[in-house]
Amino acid sequence: MKKICVLGVTGSIGQQTVDVVKHHRDSFEIVAMSAGKNIDLLEKIMTTIHAKHICVQNEEDMIYLQRKYKDIHFYCGEDGLISIATLSDVDIVLNAIVGFAGLVPTMKAIEAHKDIALANKETLVVAGHLIIPLVKQNHVQLLPVDSEHSAIFQSLNGERHCDINKIILTASGGSFRDKSRLELQHVTVEEALKHPNWSMGAKITIDSATLFNKGLEVMEAKWLFDVDYDDIEVLIHPESIIHSMVEFKDTSVIAQLGTPDMRLPIQYALTYPERQPLIGGKRLSLGEIGSLHFEKPDFHRFRALALSYEAGRKGGSMPCVLNGANEQANALFLNGHISFLDIEKLVEEAMRAHHWIDNPCLDQLIEIDQWARDYVLERVGER
Ligand code: NAD
Ligand code: MG
Repeated sequence: MKKICVLGVTGSIGQQTVDVVKHHRDSFEIVAMSAGKNIDLLEKIMTTIHAKHICVQNEEDMIYLQRKYKDIHFYCGEDGLISIATLSDVDIVLNAIVGFAGLVPTMKAIEAHKDIALANKETLVVAGHLIIPLVKQNHVQLLPVDSEHSAIFQSLNGERHCDINKIILTASGGSFRDKSRLELQHVTVEEALKHPNWSMGAKITIDSATLFNKGLEVMEAKWLFDVDYDDIEVLIHPESIIHSMVEFKDTSVIAQLGTPDMRLPIQYALTYPERQPLIGGKRLSLGEIGSLHFEKPDFHRFRALALSYEAGRKGGSMPCVLNGANEQANALFLNGHISFLDIEKLVEEAMRAHHWIDNPCLDQLIEIDQWARDYVLERVGER
């Protein structure tokens, strides 16, 4: 029986994790979980998942819940996330929190020798240089939940790292893949939130439309698979059937395919190295699909991709600036304060204004993240 702590249980990945666990009650148990502010949904999840340790974002919610459910331990805030992620009972932490907020709980869980199933890609983007050595030092497993990275991980099963030639990260292209830059000037939040292939949280859906999501994934891949940026290629593949590929030095290419369903990479991260039936999963029929399409990305059209490679190659504090500025700009777009193309513009301005440092420690990352958010807010306020 694997005992799991799910961070971000009320989110898109969190709820799909609950679904996977419910179908494999003999193998998995959620012993701890966290939610943000959606307490109604948390209480609904609590009717089927009887975790004894639960963390919420706000203290008032914690007090309300503690009065109502006397036999459960409630926690709040970042300290609460750390407490539940490091419980002695927990074997693996599935981190499905969105954004920079996922970083500290991940680090503390690794230090407490927990295996990590990582959906929270922002953790690796901003702090891959701290996380990877920590994973090695503490002899824990870091298992990707992101579908592309799970595909690469599966394609590398039994292979030697020295045989990799390059990684080919597929991208659906998001909601606006067929729009020109001129057309992108007037797109709305509602249009951006309509992803053609996946149903996900709002932040990542907007990131998919800008392609910052793919940019973050390039950096995530660099850290997970220890490859150079020159050896990571992004390929637009509108059908999201090939989830990513690895090309080896003998020219062979190995890919992982499947119908788009995040429950598969979630489940694989939990069952690895074994596999279990995916209950309710739709089998892939290439005969029905008929044809798959591919296109090289246009780095001018998808400016976010160019900025992400630039930040990744620069390294040090720059990915943290890109990530923090993007989180803030993404939220401003979602709230209707800025236009779609302003997102990449603000991220680029933050990157240009930043005083770069090499090898930032955690405290410096926290400061730089805040600086990038404040910078974006100031720029928008000045208009
Ligand atoms: P979501 O917005 O649906 O859910 C986020 C969860 O985190 C919620 O439970 C929310 O309450 C919690 N949360 C948000 N801010 C918090 C904070 N400051 N403190 C504590 N908890 C907080 O997001 P999602 O789409 O499930 O994505 C989660 C992560 O997984 C992201 O990093 C995303 O990039 C990654 N991811 C998601 C998908 C997907 O299909 N949704 C696919 C691949 C990777
Ligand atoms: Mg992905």
